[in-house]
Amino acid sequence: LMDIHSELASHQIRIGKHIMGESPFIIAGQCTIDPANPNYFLETAHAVKEAGAKAIRGGVWKPRTMPYSFQGDDSSMKILVEARAQTGLPIDTEVMDEHQLMVAMEAQVDILQIGTRNALNYSLLRKVGELTANTNTVVLLKRSMSMGPVSEFIAAAEYIAAGGNPNVMLCPRGTVPKMEGYRNHPDESITPLLKEKTWAPVVVDPSHSVGRAKYVAATSLAAMAYGADGLIIESHIEAQKGIGDDPKQAIHPRELAALIQKAEALWALT
Ligand code: PEP
Ligand code: MN
Repeated sequence: LMDIHSELASHQIRIGKHIMGESPFIIAGQCTIDPANPNYFLETAHAVKEAGAKAIRGGVWKPRTMPYSFQGDDSSMKILVEARAQTGLPIDTEVMDEHQLMVAMEAQVDILQIGTRNALNYSLLRKVGELTANTNTVVLLKRSMSMGPVSEFIAAAEYIAAGGNPNVMLCPRGTVPKMEGYRNHPDESITPLLKEKTWAPVVVDPSHSVGRAKYVAATSLAAMAYGADGLIIESHIEAQKGIGDDPKQAIHPRELAALIQKAEALWALT
């Protein structure tokens, strides 16, 4: 199904008013929603919209290395939904299990993110495809941090399509072993290889690949130069107050605005 030679070769993905492939699709917002400080999230949502973002990201649940770290909270879903109501932009959040999937579907989350740690969780991928079949829900599949060949990534996406939902977007987010100085090994360069083999839009995540705010802009532009259809970027009005990756990774909405302008200029040239 994901193959460019399949019967779905011209499958078009729409997210709200946006048609993928017609202009850069920038998803931006905090790594993690802090349920104790909803205003940071809501103000960030307005600021990234102002900067030119087309969708809002926010982690309701988080895959944390330590079980004692903040794991997210169902109650953050209403903050995410409120951000959509206030800005009119589609919303994106990660789901890691069936309970979270049900809560997200109940809230009609527009973009369901499957994180790097579940990119090879075939039963979850199939389940997501089945439960979102015949809906407008779009699935953003992150590349597993340990994924090798491009074909393994496309095969994982195929599980979602085979489950019943062809609205899948591929998200390179960096792999291991990391490049010294970065959080991961940046992999925006696989974009043309993915686009050669599948019709799925490619949305690159520079924030997790380099993992440092000061390198996000250059990596974003590299991704656009490689032909990415969009970007997913962590942004926060006050990154140091963030409770997830934000203190290290999030760029200020002001920097996001400058970067979106450059990404759009680059798009217009290609
Ligand atoms: C995230 O988007 O905040 C996240 C946890 O991403 P990844 O699954 O790529 O680590
Ligand atoms: Mn994050």
